[in-house]
Amino acid sequence: SKEPTSIFSEGWLKRVYEEKPVKDVRTRFPPEPNGYLHIGHCKAIAVDFGFAKHHNGACNLRYDDTNPEKEEEKYFTSILDIVKWLGFEPAKVTYSSDCFDKLYELAEELITKDGAYVCHCTREEINMQRGGPDNRGKRYACDHRARPIEESITEFRAMRDGRYQAGEAFLRMKQKLTDADEGNPQMWDLPAYRVVKENHHHRTGDKWRIYPTYDFTHCIVDALEGVTHSLCTVEFRQSRISYDWLLEKLDMKVPKSDKRGPMQREFGRLSVGGTILSKRRILQLVEGTTVEKKKEDGTIETRKIAPAVRGWDDPRLFTMVALRRRGIPAKAMLNFVAELGVTDALTEIEPPRLESSIRKHLERTVPRQMLVLDPIKVVIEDLAAEDEQEMTVPYDPKGTIPGERRVKIGNAVYIDRSDFREEDDPDYFRLAPNKAVGLYNVPFAIRATSFSKDENGNVTEIKAVKVPATEKPKAYIQWVDVTTAVHVTARLYNSLFKTESPNTLDWKTGGWADDLNPNSEIIYGKAVVERGIQDLIKQNSLNPSGSSDALVRFQALRTAYFCVDIESTEDSIVLNQIVSLREDKGK
Ligand code: ATP
Ligand code: MG
Ligand code: MG
Repeated sequence: SKEPTSIFSEGWLKRVYEEKPVKDVRTRFPPEPNGYLHIGHCKAIAVDFGFAKHHNGACNLRYDDTNPEKEEEKYFTSILDIVKWLGFEPAKVTYSSDCFDKLYELAEELITKDGAYVCHCTREEINMQRGGPDNRGKRYACDHRARPIEESITEFRAMRDGRYQAGEAFLRMKQKLTDADEGNPQMWDLPAYRVVKENHHHRTGDKWRIYPTYDFTHCIVDALEGVTHSLCTVEFRQSRISYDWLLEKLDMKVPKSDKRGPMQREFGRLSVGGTILSKRRILQLVEGTTVEKKKEDGTIETRKIAPAVRGWDDPRLFTMVALRRRGIPAKAMLNFVAELGVTDALTEIEPPRLESSIRKHLERTVPRQMLVLDPIKVVIEDLAAEDEQEMTVPYDPKGTIPGERRVKIGNAVYIDRSDFREEDDPDYFRLAPNKAVGLYNVPFAIRATSFSKDENGNVTEIKAVKVPATEKPKAYIQWVDVTTAVHVTARLYNSLFKTESPNTLDWKTGGWADDLNPNSEIIYGKAVVERGIQDLIKQNSLNPSGSSDALVRFQALRTAYFCVDIESTEDSIVLNQIVSLREDKGK
C-alpha cells in the first residue's frame, strides 16, 4: 500500500505544485462551521494540510463564517478537534469574519473601480436578466448597472447602515453579464454583499447587517492570508474564473498569471455510497422528526418518527466524530485517502472499500484478545485445581505487533453459544456431545460429555473432559476463563439502512424510517473478554501516545475488531465493533 505522502510526490497534486513551485507553500482548509465534518471532509483535510506539510509549508484552519444564520459554536470546536485528531496542527486558526472590515473596504474599492453596483432587482428579475429559466435567452443589464459610482457608494453605505431590509438591495459585481460570449454563469454579475435578516454573528455580534458572499470572500481572504495554492473541490471549477476576476480587479493578482496571489485548483470529491452525509438528513436521524400526512377524509395525521441513532457520533454514521468513536484509527483514515488517490475526478466508494482498508491497517497494528459474545459455561471436569495453567501468549502470533499477555485457564471456561451443538454432525467440527474441539493457546482439547438446559430450552452449562494430546482437534475456538473473565457489553454494527442507496429514500415525509435496518446495531450485554483487556486499558492510560488517537483497539479472535468505547468506565466496559474480520457475507 502507498505511503500517505506519495499522493503529493506524484500525479495530480505534484503537477499542481509544479504549476506554482514556490518555496513558502501556504494552504487552508476552509469549512463552513455549520455542521459536523464527514468522511468527505477527511479528504479535503488530508489534501490541504498534507500538501503544505509535504512542501514544508503552512496550512491554516479557516472557519468560513460568513453566514450568521447557520453557524454554531459547537461546530467550531468539533472541527478543530477532528483536524488535530487526524494529526495536523493548523499554522493558524483564522476566521473569514476577521476580515469583515477589510472586505468592506475592498467592496467600496471595487465599486470605485466600477467593478460593482448596488442592485434592487428581485430574484425573478435577475433570472430574466440571466437569460430566463433555461439561461438561453438574451442576457441584459438592469438600470442599476449603469448608475453612477457615487450613487452605488451611497447606497452601499445605506445597506451597511441598516436602511434596507433583506432582499431590498444587494451589492452586485459588474462582471460580464452583458457580454454575449461569456457562457460561464459565474461571470453573470454575482452578488458580493447581501442584507441578512438574522444578522447576529457569533463573533462580530450586531456590528454588521450586511454579509459578504462566498464568491466575494473566499478569494480575497485567500489573498489576505497569503495562500499560494487554494485547493478546493471540483464544484468550484466554474468559480475559478470569478475568483481570478475579482482578485485582478483589486490588484491582488496579475492577469493570466499565477505568479502573484493565490492559485485555485480543484480536486474530485469523495463520495461514500450506502450512507447519508447530508447535514439536514443526518439531523433527522439524530433528532427524529414529525411529519404530517393528509388522509383521504381530509384530516391530518401526524407521525412521530423516533431518532434512528444516538447522536452525531453514533458509530453507524459517517461523520468524522462517528468514525472516530467507532474506533477507526486516524492513520487508517489518512491511508485510505492516499490509497484512493487524488485527481480531479470524483471518487465514489462503497463502505466495504473503506472497511477493507481499515482492516488491513488494524491487522498490522492491534493486539489479539479472546472475547466471547454470547457465553456458555463449560466445566472441564477432569481438570484438577493443580492443573490450572497460566500461559504466556504473544499479542500477535505472527509477531508483527510486539508484546505478550498472560492467559489463565481454570476448570471452567466460557465459549460462544454458536460454537456448541446439541447434536453432532459429521460435517461439524466444533464442540458437541462426544466431539472434541481445540481451545486457542491451550495444550489440550476438550470433549463435551453432557449439557443442561433451562425451561426455555437454552443450553446453560456444558460438561467436558480433556482430550489426550495425541488426538488432534479439527478446529480451534476462542474461550475465556470464568474466574478471571472481564464482563463487557459489545456492540456490533451493520448498515443503518436496508437499501444500498439511502439517498434515494423519501426524506421529505419520513419514508426513510421504513427502511431502517433493525439489525444495524446488535448489542451483546453479557459478553466476556480475557482479563488482558484490563492491561491494555491501563497501558493506554499510562502512556497517552501524545496523539489524540489513543483508543484501546484489539482483534477479538474469530469475532471482529473492537475498540473500547470512549464512555466506558472501569466497571462498565463497552466495546464498539470497528470492522468485521472479513468482508461481510451480508447484513
Ligand atoms: P457539505 O455540504 O457536504 O457539508 P460543504 O462543501 O458545504 O460540504 P464545507 O464546510 O464548505 O462543506 O467544506 C470545507 C471543505 O471541505 C471545502 O473545501 C470542500 O470543498 C471540502 N469538502 C466538502 N465535502 C467534500 C467531499 N465530499 N470530498 C472532498 N472534499 C469535500
Ligand atoms: Mg460549503
Ligand atoms: Mg459544509
